[in-house]
Amino acid sequence: MIVNKHLLDKVRVEVQEVVKAIADRTEKELGLNIKVTEGCRTYEVQEAYYAQGRKPLEEVNKLRKKAGLPPIEAKKNLIITYAPAGHSAHNVCAAADIYLLDKNNKLVLEDYTLLKKFYAIVRKEVDKRNDITWGMDFTEFKDPPHLEYKHYRTLINKNTTVSTNQISSQNKPNNTPNSKNNILLFLMALGAITFAVMYKM
Ligand SMILES: [Zn+2]
Repeated sequence: MIVNKHLLDKVRVEVQEVVKAIADRTEKELGLNIKVTEGCRTYEVQEAYYAQGRKPLEEVNKLRKKAGLPPIEAKKNLIITYAPAGHSAHNVCAAADIYLLDKNNKLVLEDYTLLKKFYAIVRKEVDKRNDITWGMDFTEFKDPPHLEYKHYRTLINKNTTVSTNQISSQNKPNNTPNSKNNILLFLMALGAITFAVMYKM
C-alpha cells in the first residue's frame, strides 16, 4: 500500500510507475507499506528549502512562512538540497520522496537491516527502467528517499519561469564592456611597451 498516494496524482507517470512497483514488491517481500512524503513542490517551498543551511534562521523561517511551512529550530538549519528554486525535479512534478513504514506505520529511519532490504528492492525496480534516477546515486548529496524522472531538466527549460540558461546568462558579465576593457588593456600594454622601448633607445 502507498500511504499519501494522492501526493503522486500530479507527478509524472514514470515516477508513479516506479513508486507503485516498489510498493508492490515491498508489500510482497517485506509485508510493509511505503509512504510518499512529497511529490510536486512549489517554487516558494524550494526557495525556503534552498535557504536552509545557507541563510540565517530568521530568514529561513520567513521564507518557510511564505511557503506555508512550519518554522524550524536552529539545529535543523542545515543544507537539505542543492537545487535552487525552479531547479529541482520536484518543481516540475517529476520526483517523489518515499519512505519505508514499519508495522506501526512509522517511518523506518534507523533500522539498517530493514533499510538494506528496502534499498535492495528500490535498486531492482530502478534498474529495470532507464528513465528514473535514484537519489542514492547522486554523487554530491545522497538522497535515498528521492526518485526522479531522468530527463526532468528538459521540462525545466520548457515549462518554468527560471531556466538554467537564463540564470547562467544573468551571472555572466555583459560581453560588450568586457571586450572594450580588453582592447583598452591591450592598447595600454602596447603603449607601455612602446614607451619602455623608446626610453631605452
Ligand atoms: Zn526529493
